Order: sequence, then structure tokens, then C-alpha cells
Amino acid sequence: MTTGARPRPEPRGEERIFFEAAARGHVGICRCRVCGRHFLPRVVCPFCWAQDPVAVDAAGTGSVHSFTVLHRAGLPGFEDDVPYVVALIELDEGVRLVSNVVGVDPDEMRIGLRLQAVFSERDGVSFPQFVAA
Ligand code: ZN
Repeated sequence: MTTGARPRPEPRGEERIFFEAAARGHVGICRCRVCGRHFLPRVVCPFCWAQDPVAVDAAGTGSVHSFTVLHRAGLPGFEDDVPYVVALIELDEGVRLVSNVVGVDPDEMRIGLRLQAVFSERDGVSFPQFVAA
């Protein structure tokens, strides 16, 4: 039973790198011009504090670093999806992000499962989710 509308992402600031890449079918991340490491979009490198990183497209592949199976919706509007998987995903570039793993039986989830990004759209906003590779 759905009790309300799902919250709509409202991309702001450097978050736009992530959502604009998703609209093109890519996972948007940043690469530092100084140390070369990758990270989720932000204006300062979290490793060396260099400014003005480069926006790049990740390969869209990675693996499950950790996960949980939700049997009660964490937010209004997700009641019809339970049980669903929320995972901490480590992209092959070394960046970790939280997303859903879809199309995998929650009982089949495991740490290290190889994943591939797929893209969904809701209310005009595209976002990545992940399926088993
Ligand atoms: Zn850096």
C-alpha cells in the first residue's frame, strides 16, 4: 500500500554532474587534476584538497561493498517495493555510492557481487540503479 509520493531528487551544485551524467546513461564522478583519484562530484578533492576537479563518466561497473534488505519502506512512496536492496557499491574507479540493486532476489545478494549500472527516470530526473553483471 503506497502512502505518498516518492521524494523527487532536486539536484543542486555539483550534484548536477551526477544527474546530468545519469540523463546521458552514465555514472558521473570526478577525477582530481592533481592526485588523479576519483570521487563523487564535489568542488574539492577529498584526498588532497585540490580544487576544480574534472567531471568524468565512470565505467558503470563495480561490486557490492555492503548492503541491507529493507522489509519496511524507509520513505513514503516505497511501500510497494519491499523487500528491496539498498547497497554501498564500490565502482571500479574506487568510488563508493549508495544505490538500489534491482532484479536480484534479496536472498541472492552477497558482498562482492559484480554489478552494472542501469538507469531509471522519475519525474524528469534520471538516476542509476544496479543489476547483477
Ligand atoms: Zn586530489
